[in-house]
Amino acid sequence: MEKRIISFPYIGREYTKLIKRNLEKLGLSIQLPPKTTKKTYNLGVRHSSDMMCFPYKVTLGNFMEALDNGANVLLMYDSLGQCRLKHYHKIQEFTLKNLGYEDFELYGINRKNALKLMKKFSGKSYYQIIKTFYNLIKDIKAHDNKRIWSKEKPNIGIVGEIYSAIDETINQNIEEKIKKYVANPYNAVTISDFLNHNFLPIINRKTKYERQAEKYFNGKLGGHGIENVSHLLELIDRGVNGIIHILPLSCMPETTVEPFINHICQENKTPLLRIPIDENNSEANLETRLETFIELIKVKNGK
Ligand code: SF4
Repeated sequence: MEKRIISFPYIGREYTKLIKRNLEKLGLSIQLPPKTTKKTYNLGVRHSSDMMCFPYKVTLGNFMEALDNGANVLLMYDSLGQCRLKHYHKIQEFTLKNLGYEDFELYGINRKNALKLMKKFSGKSYYQIIKTFYNLIKDIKAHDNKRIWSKEKPNIGIVGEIYSAIDETINQNIEEKIKKYVANPYNAVTISDFLNHNFLPIINRKTKYERQAEKYFNGKLGGHGIENVSHLLELIDRGVNGIIHILPLSCMPETTVEPFINHICQENKTPLLRIPIDENNSEANLETRLETFIELIKVKNGK
């Protein structure tokens, strides 16, 4: 392969920017796919089986547009977890080849191969690569630490599947919409948390909420199911005013935790709004549901 032009799917505006900026410091040539639009959704949906979850379809669409724009190395996130995400890079590579794309490489990037892949792409020393990762994690943590807990406005906690909870295009800018209705979004789902659970599980001791959450299940669940129950327990302990549970339609881990999320919210009298995401979501529908939800919370709290 001549010059590597590396691309990866969007995963939240700010996170994507931070990943790109830090990887470029290794001398890599990074070219993001065109912004995710309806066209991206349509491309992904057309070439995926119906029951594939939405993140698969959107990232496939991102890859098709990235290749059309000259990228030749694609990186797909691989959590090495229990859920089907770990197979996505294989299925996507197979699909893209069947669609006639030829001169490209597609890698699932995970905690086990990240260093080696970066060495292969950049030729830099492991020391430089580790330093870059360290700076990236530092930037991500600084970004996540900007979240605030409001003393004046109702706090609306967001829990759910990571991609739909953090990517503004996928969730139709849900945090901005919550702000528009004069409430404070508090997104419990962050990349810092993902890194703690997936990259540094040995150093990070389990919180009391994580231990409580695990008791609802019969072992590992995949995705962020158990983490979300623990986020929910923590948010309720903090006095959250309402919870939004956001998930791609047909997401296995989030569907599995649904009854527990319902039960915990009911028991604690915490209002809950569930938002399933797919290519048919309408912005007007989301706005109406959000506005009603937040108004009811304000009435409940006498504000
Ligand atoms: S966590 Fe849910 S949405 Fe994400 S890959 Fe797994 S099933 Fe799909």
